[in-house]
Amino acid sequence: MRFDVVTIFPAMFAPVFEAGVVGRAREAGRIQLRAHDLREYTHDRHRQVDDMPFGGGPGMVMKPEPAIEAVEALRIENRGPVVLMEPWGERLDQELAAELAAEDGLIIVCGRYEGIDDRVRTALDAREISIGDYVLSGGEIPAMVLIDTVARLVPGVVGDPQSLTQDSFSSELAGWPQFTRPAEYRGMSVPDVLLSGDHARIRQWRHQQAAQRRVSHSKELKKR
Ligand code: SAH
Repeated sequence: MRFDVVTIFPAMFAPVFEAGVVGRAREAGRIQLRAHDLREYTHDRHRQVDDMPFGGGPGMVMKPEPAIEAVEALRIENRGPVVLMEPWGERLDQELAAELAAEDGLIIVCGRYEGIDDRVRTALDAREISIGDYVLSGGEIPAMVLIDTVARLVPGVVGDPQSLTQDSFSSELAGWPQFTRPAEYRGMSVPDVLLSGDHARIRQWRHQQAAQRRVSHSKELKKR
């Protein structure tokens, strides 16, 4: 799978694309990740990517031409869907990530300022995706979240495929408390059941714990 990112801060991506399973998958050629400088697609001397909002209001808006032209250039090699990172977009979850992981590629445009001129969405028939109901200063971190989430679902990226099926949100009840050695640290000991070797009991304990965690984090319940 190939990921192309359009951004005014391409340098932000290098360290992230090098680390961990995503970095290894990239080295092994299972995924391709490229960050492209939006300013390369400007035509003026100042390489301007933003301008004042029509209708007034604070801040600046990302101009349509550089983003549209950048994506058009990338589309020659990447036929995947175009995604704009925007806080009001469709909310990223594990199901959407799995849907996108089935594509051959993704082209992701990172917004800055007050957002991206709406004609970018129209012209590119782009999908708007949000990583959550909060506002970041730019689309780069959201794009990294999206890429990481989608990339680890691409076959061969995560070494042991079983670790995907036992992920939170993939199975109905996952995300139980995990422990490793030492069995005791500062008086805190690992639950006996995990040392018991009784796999049926361990499975039961894990599901119980995961269910409890969900209940205690549930917003609806907290509000009551
Ligand atoms: N004034 C805008 C905020 C723009 S934030 C508003 O209220 O919606 C600037 C850029 O950051 C956005 O264009 C988008 O690319 C990115 N961004 C901020 N929060 C985001 C989120 N939750 N999900 C995805 N992208 C986000």
